[in-house]
Amino acid sequence: MGDDQTSFPGFASLRKRVDGNDSNEGERVSEPRLKAIDRAQLLFRTVDVERLIPDDHPARAIWEFVGRLDLSGYTEQVRSVAGVAGRPAFDPQLLVSLWVYSYSQAVSSAREIERRCEHHPAYQWLTGMQSIGAHTLSDFRSTHGALLSELFVQTLGLLSADGLITLERVMLDGTKVRANASGSSFRSKPRVEEFLKDAREAVEALEAQTEEESSRQMEAAQQRARRERTEHLESALKEYDKLEAAKSRLKRVSTTDPDARIMKQAEGGSAPCYNVQVSTDAAHGLIVDIEATQAGSDYQQLTPATQRMEQSMQRAPEQMVADGGYISSRNIAEMAKRDIDFVGPESENKSAEANRRKSYKHYGVSEEYEASKFVFDAENNKYVCPQGKILRYDAKMESHGAMYYRYKASKQDCETCPAKDQCCPRTRHGRSVQRREPSAELVAFRQKMKTDEAKAIYKTRAQVAEFPNLWIKTKFGLRQFSVRGVPKVRIESQWVALTYNIQQWIRLRWGPKLVSNLVPA
Ligand code: SF4
Repeated sequence: MGDDQTSFPGFASLRKRVDGNDSNEGERVSEPRLKAIDRAQLLFRTVDVERLIPDDHPARAIWEFVGRLDLSGYTEQVRSVAGVAGRPAFDPQLLVSLWVYSYSQAVSSAREIERRCEHHPAYQWLTGMQSIGAHTLSDFRSTHGALLSELFVQTLGLLSADGLITLERVMLDGTKVRANASGSSFRSKPRVEEFLKDAREAVEALEAQTEEESSRQMEAAQQRARRERTEHLESALKEYDKLEAAKSRLKRVSTTDPDARIMKQAEGGSAPCYNVQVSTDAAHGLIVDIEATQAGSDYQQLTPATQRMEQSMQRAPEQMVADGGYISSRNIAEMAKRDIDFVGPESENKSAEANRRKSYKHYGVSEEYEASKFVFDAENNKYVCPQGKILRYDAKMESHGAMYYRYKASKQDCETCPAKDQCCPRTRHGRSVQRREPSAELVAFRQKMKTDEAKAIYKTRAQVAEFPNLWIKTKFGLRQFSVRGVPKVRIESQWVALTYNIQQWIRLRWGPKLVSNLVPA
């Protein structure tokens, strides 16, 4: 660096001191003395566990809230009892609080929680400085589905009693959450059968190995991995059977999570997902129902959501608000039958229109000969086709809460028609079109949705309904499930909903209480 160093004033002064040329008499000229870092030492420290976290820490609030819940369902399952040999079990209040706190911190891995219990003050406060193994945590999260549902219902009861849930207006929305499987894990049935054959042979080969050939520990790990692989493949084959029984058009199933489905995502593209249905009470934005489904579209989820709420809350919501994805004659009729005021956009859902387009394509009908191009003559109850031929009334039927009337052209007219290839290339009889007569409920719904009041209610939908979806994805990190299969995915969804509601309770009730406690009377 040469002379350039002298341009730093600190360096110049230090050099003067070391060289003994400093004019300040009595100043220290030897090297500075610094504190040594001794990492070889063993320390014993006093830890005041209660003071590990401040009074207003959310871990305290979660502990307090969970402490209000009746956890006897969990304690009844504890096998360890007083006076009998064996280690005591962990308190369910601790395990529930740990999972709720972890989800609130976007931690969904049992191993990560185990690690944090070793050093993180909030986890140490919750556990009282105890260690908890990942297996214990993982089993607790995934194996008590019914108890967790009960816990969620209890939470709804507490929040209702606190005036935070009213069920006066509930908003339903669906969000796609990535499954724990990749798109490349989707295979056809013959490939799954091949894989299953290989996997079963591998398990048999491992079981036949002698101890000399493999260490016991390695053997156990390999066997477990192979067995899990075989189980997934067997589930995939069962899923094919279900799809075949339901006459589904799906031809491929994931070999890692057979319950996952390829779905279109809001941000574009398709991926293996679950469709998570979230019902939010508009009073304070709390989640009153959550369900993970395999359905790619939303319109069949409205009635099940209201049924679940009726079951858990012992009463139905007074009003349901949902977007165009839930609008169908059947849903409108069903809500009217259940005496639930249904609010949504006037237009039909986009998937119904997309299905109609698919159907035209399938039957080879060109755009100029779609049903909308046929003119209805109400006076004479007949249609006139684009070629001027008559379609006479033929039959009627009721479906999805609406009445359908069918009109048919004569076979002779269509056979000799120059436009047959664009109008009805696959029909050996005359072309037919259907007229849908809206039900009384649909007419009433459309009239209601023209009013300013209904429009104003619908305007608030996005803000209320999409907020929890966004929150659980961004704050809790639930963009992808950490577990596989519908039962476990449902459980993880409920953990997230429970965490969300407790967090909102902290914001609405616990936080203000703390602040008011600090203000002198
Ligand atoms: S095929 Fe039949 S219905 Fe279609 S345009 Fe010709 S006559 Fe009309």
